[in-house]
Amino acid sequence: MKKLLVFLMITLPVTTALLTTSCNNNTKPMNAETKVPAFDLSTIDSTVKPCDDFDGYANGNWKKHNPIPSTEGSWGSFDILDKETREVKIKGIIKELLTQENPQKGSEAQLITGYYRSYLDTVTIAKRGITPIVPMSDKIVAAHNVAELVSFTGELAKYMVDGPFSVYVGADDRNSTMNAIFMGQSGLSLNDRNYYENKDSAMVKIRAEFVKHVDKMFSMAGWQVADPGKTILDFETKLALIQLKNFELRDPVKIYNKIPFAELKKIAPGINWGDYYKNYGLNADTVIVQDKNYLKSLNQLVGATPLDVMKTYYRWQLLSTYANLLPSEFNKETFHFFSTVMYGVKEQRPREERAIMSVNRRLGMPLGKLFVAKYFPESSKKKVSDMIENVRSVYSSRIDNLAWMSAPTKEKAKKKLAAFTWKIGYPDKWKDYSSIDIQADKLIENSMNIALWDHQDMISKAGKPVDKSEWGMSPQTINAYNNPTNNEIVFPAAILQPPFFNPDADDAINYGAIIGVIGHEMTHGFDDQGAQYDGTGNLSNWWTPEDTKNFTALGKKMEDYFSSIEVTKGFHIDGKLTLGENIADLGGLTLGYYALEKSLEGKKKPDPIDGFTYQQRFFLGWAQVWRDNMTNESLINQVQTNEHTPARWRINATLPLMKEFADAFGCKGTAAESQRIVIW
Ligand SMILES: [Zn+2]
Repeated sequence: MKKLLVFLMITLPVTTALLTTSCNNNTKPMNAETKVPAFDLSTIDSTVKPCDDFDGYANGNWKKHNPIPSTEGSWGSFDILDKETREVKIKGIIKELLTQENPQKGSEAQLITGYYRSYLDTVTIAKRGITPIVPMSDKIVAAHNVAELVSFTGELAKYMVDGPFSVYVGADDRNSTMNAIFMGQSGLSLNDRNYYENKDSAMVKIRAEFVKHVDKMFSMAGWQVADPGKTILDFETKLALIQLKNFELRDPVKIYNKIPFAELKKIAPGINWGDYYKNYGLNADTVIVQDKNYLKSLNQLVGATPLDVMKTYYRWQLLSTYANLLPSEFNKETFHFFSTVMYGVKEQRPREERAIMSVNRRLGMPLGKLFVAKYFPESSKKKVSDMIENVRSVYSSRIDNLAWMSAPTKEKAKKKLAAFTWKIGYPDKWKDYSSIDIQADKLIENSMNIALWDHQDMISKAGKPVDKSEWGMSPQTINAYNNPTNNEIVFPAAILQPPFFNPDADDAINYGAIIGVIGHEMTHGFDDQGAQYDGTGNLSNWWTPEDTKNFTALGKKMEDYFSSIEVTKGFHIDGKLTLGENIADLGGLTLGYYALEKSLEGKKKPDPIDGFTYQQRFFLGWAQVWRDNMTNESLINQVQTNEHTPARWRINATLPLMKEFADAFGCKGTAAESQRIVIW
């Protein structure tokens, strides 16, 4: 578990890096090969009225002709660009590296090709079976009591094996130039408390399938345990019910509780914290805990749970963590539950594709270094930084004109805005990965060695100043993020491709896409969460009470509006969980729109293109970015666990809140008219 960054869309952060050398300039334009149309008119379904259902209008025909492939749970602009980037560019880089004979040990080529080969060596994987994880399992089984067992899990955690709490190092929210040690809740196989307590029949079915899945996995491993599935579900349900709800984790003040390390012993005396931290490799004087009550309840739960149940739980965590790297029967069964049952994905991706994804995930920075050298034009940095400055200046004048905010708070908001920093493309320095031992016939050990490297990299930062140049995402990721403790926004190289950024498109399309995305990330600095951090990245209140009251009231209006939307039978958007993202979307669109208007000041207004005014094309640009088909299972998963509103409503719920949208398409008398919200 890493410190929270705020992303543009759902994804897992990848933090891996390589080699401390400066970047070279051997660059080619990213999309020199083909010209991508700015907006393809054939995607439009003109039988749908834009004011009623803008997604159905702008993307209706696209949706009809682009069904979800059997290997995917959703299919939209992000997925398509991600797949193209992997299957063409990343694959091309790997194939080229494979032609090198005996690359030097620890070089990017050796790490990448060694891991890739070990992933594809299914003969060795089958032959070795579960042998590589047996020593860890044996140590779990050998524990004499719960205290000894939990202490040992400090060792397991170095290798990504989760438990009821996780310890990590990151910037101290109240002293953002220094790193601190954090401890938070974790350890749920189904990821979110909702999956354990929701009574909807779809959830009941998933829990029943989960029990079967765990039973099968134990049986395949040859581990003799009575009813492992039921045991795990029962224990994890108890665990889930004492954890904070997902929206509560979005409250940075609530989850910041700095205590002396010695106090852990008073809060949860049944856990041997000293040994756990020692095994984990950390020496802590103070620790910032998410929730003291959780640790108290956990102490009781662990005390009341038989040792055998705790052992079964940790063996399950171990098996599940490495299941995808075990022989094919294990990853087929894991696919069945975690992809088919949970996300409605019908068919497993071919092994080669999975190998590329796995290298990309685990060695993202070594690959990213090669990726940007080949595909990222330096000129993009200048273009994007100009766009960011353009959005910043529009934001500043909008703050000046806000009716709901007082002058003293405006002053501070503008100070924070002026202090924003940004990163574009890829890191200025690369880390040295060369010490990782990667061998072409040892997949699980490779994975463990990478995990250990990542772990050591993380714990080495404890108590040291924050390195603000670090990246939380690899450059080939189709995403962007805002890091509140750095007061920065970050745009990896790969998002600067069509349909997000299209050098061949008219400005209006790009302003609705990449500028909307830039505005989105900037607005995160002023959403319900980000607004609690100041310009130096510290969690510190710079608002007057009256302004806080007004801002909270606007947020509540937004929350209620989104919570009223049912996305599929029985499941609504969670307005509390998605509040920050929804504020960022509305803010991003507004900033993008007015940045476009500003760019046209004193100029002749552009002629319509394909019958659409530039204002209309701005909104088409946004719709194009968020077009997406999703399985029902993925949709349910997203609204129950994720802080992003599903793509369809990032278009259909957000645009009608804007008068600018209604004016562009002549929408009159719609229900949204009475619900318009302007925050930023
Ligand atoms: Zn976001």
